[in-house]
Amino acid sequence: MSSADLFRTACRYIPGGVNSPVRAFRAVGGEPFFVSKAEGSRLFTVDGKELVDYVGTWGPAILGHAPDSVIAAICATASRGTSFGVPNPLEPEMAELICGLVPSVEKVRMVNSGTEATMSCIRLARGYTGRDKVIKFEGCYHGHVDGLLVKAGSGALTHSQIDSAGVPKAYAELTLCLPFNDLAAVEEAFAANPGEIAAIILEPVPANAGLYLPEDGYLEGLRELCTQHGAVLIFDEVMTGFRLAPGGAQEIYGVTPDLTALGKVIGGGLPVGAFGGKAEIMDYLSPEGPVYQAGTLSGNPVAMAAGLTQLRELISGGGWSQLEERGRQFEEAMQPAIANLPVTFHRIGSMFCLYFQKGPVRNLADARQSNTKAFAKFFHACLDGGVYFAPSQFEAGFLSVAHSEADIAFTAEVASSALASVAADIS
Ligand SMILES: *Cc1c(COP(=O)(O)O)cnc(C)c1O
Repeated sequence: MSSADLFRTACRYIPGGVNSPVRAFRAVGGEPFFVSKAEGSRLFTVDGKELVDYVGTWGPAILGHAPDSVIAAICATASRGTSFGVPNPLEPEMAELICGLVPSVEKVRMVNSGTEATMSCIRLARGYTGRDKVIKFEGCYHGHVDGLLVKAGSGALTHSQIDSAGVPKAYAELTLCLPFNDLAAVEEAFAANPGEIAAIILEPVPANAGLYLPEDGYLEGLRELCTQHGAVLIFDEVMTGFRLAPGGAQEIYGVTPDLTALGKVIGGGLPVGAFGGKAEIMDYLSPEGPVYQAGTLSGNPVAMAAGLTQLRELISGGGWSQLEERGRQFEEAMQPAIANLPVTFHRIGSMFCLYFQKGPVRNLADARQSNTKAFAKFFHACLDGGVYFAPSQFEAGFLSVAHSEADIAFTAEVASSALASVAADIS
């Protein structure tokens, strides 16, 4: 069956034909394609097309798709049973590995998605501080948690309205949403809500409204304000964790949060999230403490095997320096194509974004100035040429260890002619 046939059936039985909204291509127009196989840097569509993939299943495929070691670990583990509902030996192994890699994490709990991880961090921070209000930042996406779907990034940005329906007003009122990279706004919020703010949650490197970076001193400033006001600092490293460095953005920037949400890379392509931090806070969780949190499939052996194998291969193979090298090559290859155009290219390690505007881009308001029509045209031209970038201006791109120099050269060629075809629209 072709993608078109499959999508027709999908639309009949699944809202919008997809199980996650960005996949529907609404931000770029057209219909999604269906994939029958993925390997290394490539996706193979049911229509017989081969694509160089820069979505990497939205981050997890950091070794490329279907790495032999991860697939072998999944099969071997699954053959001994897929879920036990009692502890399995891979759980303490995973916990020990995470605590060893991520500087601020003394204790950790596994969950099944990034959304669960951030949701649990918020509840824990509220239980620990006895306060209700939470500060988040415009354009930061923390999954589809009720109180965090306020000016969220990713799919929520291209959704028909800025916030989701169905979020009780009372929840949204507990969320103070501020512009990123603006410390004064955070100081003011603390001053206006004395003793009421339980936590600040942020993506230390926001990667769900394209990709922009924290300015010098910003993360340090947030750390200081949280310490000063007794609020919990939560880094949502679902995207950046194990991608930018073994210890995520907190390792690179040298700022220590109280709690960290993890996901994506940690599961090796299976549904896994985790959250952890200071033991003193984590011990507020049931059964030690009063904050309830649980999961039928949390710590699932097959998922743990996939994640452990992927992380160990990254460690033993020098994965992060390879990823930096790929990122640098990619940036260099793209330079000639973008040099004389009013576009802004951001990169950190193996993550990147090309904004269709002259910049600078330092927060959501800036990001929204981009020419999304030109992006859509660029996206489709690349797709036609065999290169798959994320189907929205407001998503980051991901390189993997499996992207070869030849892949990158090919991509630069395709992107270059795609850019030439939209040059008239943006200059
Ligand atoms: C993807 C993402 C989430 C949500 O993770 P899911 O597994 O999709 O629930 C949360 N925070 C950030 C920063 C993300 O990139």
